[in-house]
Amino acid sequence: MNTITTNDQCGLDLCKRKEVVIIGNGPSAIILSYILSGHIPYWNGCPVSNDYLNIKLEQYVKDTSLLEQDLEFLSDGLEGRSRNPVSLLIDNLLHPDADLGAHLQSKIKWRHDPSLSIDHICIGRGGVGGVWNKTTSKQLQTISMADWMELPNYPMSTFRQQRRAARCNSLTNNQETTTTTTTTNNENQFGRATYDEVHSYYIHYVKRNRLTNYFRNGYEITSIERVCIDAPYYDDVNEEIRTPQPLWEIRGYNEQDKTPFVLHAKYVVLATGTPQKITRPLGIIGESASQSFTYTNLHDIEDLINKKRLTNNSKPLLVVGCGLTAVDILLLCQQYLIPVLHVFRRAIDDHELVLNQLPANIFPEYERIRELIRQSTSTTTSMSSSVSSSSSSQWSYQCYPQSEIISITEDGTVHIRNLRTHITTDCDISFVAKLTGADVTIPFLSSSNTKKYNGLQINPYTYECIDYENVYALGPLAGDKLVRFLQGGALACAASLFKKHRQASSNNNNNNNNRRLSFSVTSRIRVAS
Ligand SMILES: Cc1cc2nc3c(=O)[nH]c(=O)nc-3n(C[C@H](O)[C@H](O)[C@H](O)COP(=O)(O)OP(=O)(O)OC[C@H]3O[C@@H](n4cnc5c(N)ncnc54)[C@H](O)[C@@H]3O)c2cc1C
Repeated sequence: MNTITTNDQCGLDLCKRKEVVIIGNGPSAIILSYILSGHIPYWNGCPVSNDYLNIKLEQYVKDTSLLEQDLEFLSDGLEGRSRNPVSLLIDNLLHPDADLGAHLQSKIKWRHDPSLSIDHICIGRGGVGGVWNKTTSKQLQTISMADWMELPNYPMSTFRQQRRAARCNSLTNNQETTTTTTTTNNENQFGRATYDEVHSYYIHYVKRNRLTNYFRNGYEITSIERVCIDAPYYDDVNEEIRTPQPLWEIRGYNEQDKTPFVLHAKYVVLATGTPQKITRPLGIIGESASQSFTYTNLHDIEDLINKKRLTNNSKPLLVVGCGLTAVDILLLCQQYLIPVLHVFRRAIDDHELVLNQLPANIFPEYERIRELIRQSTSTTTSMSSSVSSSSSSQWSYQCYPQSEIISITEDGTVHIRNLRTHITTDCDISFVAKLTGADVTIPFLSSSNTKKYNGLQINPYTYECIDYENVYALGPLAGDKLVRFLQGGALACAASLFKKHRQASSNNNNNNNNRRLSFSVTSRIRVAS
């Protein structure tokens, strides 16, 4: 039996018992915290374009909170870009006809009733904002429209107006001319947002909605475990000794000073983001020899650039893969004129390439990269070599589509083979950006089911994990990868938590009236791990 850290030893306010502990501090956690702090969603009575849904809203929802609805019935028959029915339902209400290009008003209104709030805490690494805390480029833009990145009840357009007004004010206060403030392209009402703008919006959202006290940032959670810490008690009515419900024990430490903490909660919500840990190996010769100069995300490459370890005079950066993060890295390198060798397996016209799926009028910068890749391929053909350079600017970009890496040596030489022609090319490189996907690992929970389904099995109407009682999963872990769909998951989870909380409170009231005897020695039984 493990020893328990008492509240006194820990000395942190984290050493408490909480009703709900949310692991994560990104958009999923923020939305759930907003609802659990007593913000209740209602249909605003305005019709949606889906007739079947309209009828159900008219007949069954009306003025009752969306948290009290039969979400399975309401979401039945809806189709869209999420596999989760409640995400589709709420997306239909929040962003009506969004996939047809519409930017219509949300059909959800919110009422604040603090008396309904549930005691909870969100714990996460770094600062608030989740992945957006690390993704802060002022140049790179979201794939989604800005309003799709919104959190409940605070339009991005309002945030943008307020930010512009604040900037104008500060300029006026500094007695500078306001004519210098221009509305940039990406600040169009519905235009896409920069990463930095999304990050600022999330930070501002937490402050504006007085959620700061619910967040403990800069903490790493290391384990969750089911334990019994409360004493058994005598149930007068049924005349039997009863064991109280087990709790979840959450352990972790402060990222800065490494102080450990332990916390108990009835419910745990995993809002930990994309469940990836280990980038898939390339399976090449020299894989481990090149580890010291291989990176697997945008943030690390930005860091190399900021620290001037990667400059326009460096040897080329080898970018492997052609997904969105790879393309974002190309955009970054283009901006800083950092030479790039770009290797990927697919053919340039392959429909699976994400670049071939984005409309050019909405994503002009991605279109420019696509054009560059196309140009490079036609040059390649005429040069009968696999190397070509960007002629459109000073930027040195060499593209190797339908190619694979054979090996990377310790001194930074890469051997590339064209999969069609089998011609191999050797090049010197500075660093490697390996963006070829990651193997999924589910945090904290080990179960054969998690491996089998490549993710957590959840109840799609409550987001509760099938194999773990009182554990919920939100966001990418539950299959909602876009911010636009996160509100549905948070709402379904909150509805379930409110229901269980209400039920437990009424049971407690009954039990308190009946309870006569409690044992003096606290027993501690581990029932699962
Ligand atoms: C570069 C990039 C661009 C994107 N562009 C778009 C876009 O255009 N449109 C869109 O809709 N979506 C986009 N996404 C996806 C979107 O960001 C995610 O869907 C969204 O952030 C998920 O929110 P979340 O709160 O569930 O998870 P996250 O934002 O990932 O937050 C999870 C948090 O939990 C923390 N955490 C995890 N494990 C632990 C632990 N053990 N202890 C403590 N903390 C922990 C993480 O550190 C993180 O802070 C993009 C993602 C990236 C990386």
